[in-house]
Amino acid sequence: MKVAIVGAGLAGLSAAYALRERGVSDVSVFERREGPGLETSYANGALLHPSLVEPWNSPGVFGELLRNLGNEDAPALLRPHALPSLLGWGLRFVRESARARYLANTLANLALARYSVAQMPALRAAGVDYSHHATGSLMLLRDGASLQAAQDWARALAPAGRRFERWSVEQAVALEPALAPVAGDLAGALFNPEDERGDAYGFCLGLARLLTQGGVALHYGCDVRELRWRQGCVTGLIDGQGRSHDCDAVVLAAASHSPALARPLGLRLPVRPAKGYSLTLKPPPTTPLPRIALGDATLHVAVVPVGEDRLRIAGTAEFTGHDLSLNPARIDNLKRLLARIYPEVLRNTPESAMTPWTGLRPMVPDGVPLIGPTRVPGLYLNTGHGHLGWTQATGSGCLLADLMTGKEPQIEPTRYAPARFRL
Ligand SMILES: Cc1cc2nc3c(=O)[nH]c(=O)nc-3n(C[C@H](O)[C@H](O)[C@H](O)COP(=O)(O)OP(=O)(O)OC[C@H]3O[C@@H](n4cnc5c(N)ncnc54)[C@H](O)[C@@H]3O)c2cc1C
Repeated sequence: MKVAIVGAGLAGLSAAYALRERGVSDVSVFERREGPGLETSYANGALLHPSLVEPWNSPGVFGELLRNLGNEDAPALLRPHALPSLLGWGLRFVRESARARYLANTLANLALARYSVAQMPALRAAGVDYSHHATGSLMLLRDGASLQAAQDWARALAPAGRRFERWSVEQAVALEPALAPVAGDLAGALFNPEDERGDAYGFCLGLARLLTQGGVALHYGCDVRELRWRQGCVTGLIDGQGRSHDCDAVVLAAASHSPALARPLGLRLPVRPAKGYSLTLKPPPTTPLPRIALGDATLHVAVVPVGEDRLRIAGTAEFTGHDLSLNPARIDNLKRLLARIYPEVLRNTPESAMTPWTGLRPMVPDGVPLIGPTRVPGLYLNTGHGHLGWTQATGSGCLLADLMTGKEPQIEPTRYAPARFRL
């Protein structure tokens, strides 16, 4: 089988690796950028987090989005100009927030996240180095009621494998002394032993190297303009220079750009961009770098050490189409939030040692990725991972490759099947 993959982010590269591992000899990846992992997979939250797999449509969230119209400090922000592109998508988003669906979608994400993280040691053994630390993460809670609610929810997921420990503020500070200045603002924490941290971009670079060594062709600077099909079956693709590339199967892993490529084949992929921001700080060596990955449930951000000398704060969601401009108000907001977690790191880091970034999470309305075949023969999807694309990358690649090669999938595939959207 000759397979062409569109997109060299976490999703595309992971799929390429898994296909190659299953003996598919002819795999090519087409990427419009000059290298791998340069879009959404570049400076994300750096966290593999089976602890945080809930879709974003918790009951009531759409009302919150509407209330926050125009509020630059809101964790989730809807821009009015993006509304038309979100109409049908938004209705499904709201429908999926019914409690039973929300729980089912959370469980689907949890299964895939745990499966995915379990695949990572094999990749490290194969030589992919991404500054990995399996030291767990802390979710901070700032009031007693939120702490209790977080614990109750985590306990409800425990039968599905969610592991956690409730910690006091003293325990949290003992693990991460850099939290001492804000200890008085905290009510407690959940410690999540299964979470890991690591540099997603480093992972993409390492995986791309491994793919090249394994004979996978990586075509950079190659913008896929359209898919080719004959008698209803996909037969190849056409790049920006008008060159035609034959194949037996195409995998769309082009994040929120996937819908544009699928549309001419009659498939309306429900994947929309949800813009997020990160700020990476390189504090001076005299400022001790926090060692533990943190989430803050009240502030809706993650603060994660990256490599040996950087700290990254990431979060916020903005529905504003494919706009990738860096909004200074959103960056300032991240700084203010960081000041409530690690005030000293922020104070001691000069502006010149802070790197802002923004990326577009590919979001599906039910919050569960699209993995598997479509009703168009030869066309497969591996996209729509939203805020979970790093956590679920490797497992998604394995699941897709099993489906494509006729192997028995290691996790139940229908929950991720594009068919649930009649695709
Ligand atoms: C602020 C932020 C923080 C995040 N934090 C985390 C986290 O801590 N943990 C986690 O699990 N996830 C996190 N995520 C989500 C995660 O980063 C994404 O889900 C993941 O990167 C998506 O990977 P992808 O391969 O689907 O997309 P991308 O990395 O965007 O890859 C798609 C690729 O397709 C290419 N492409 C598009 N169109 C074409 C075309 N026509 N021809 C050729 N190439 C094309 C693009 O150039 C791009 O390289 C975060 C996201 C953001 C924005």
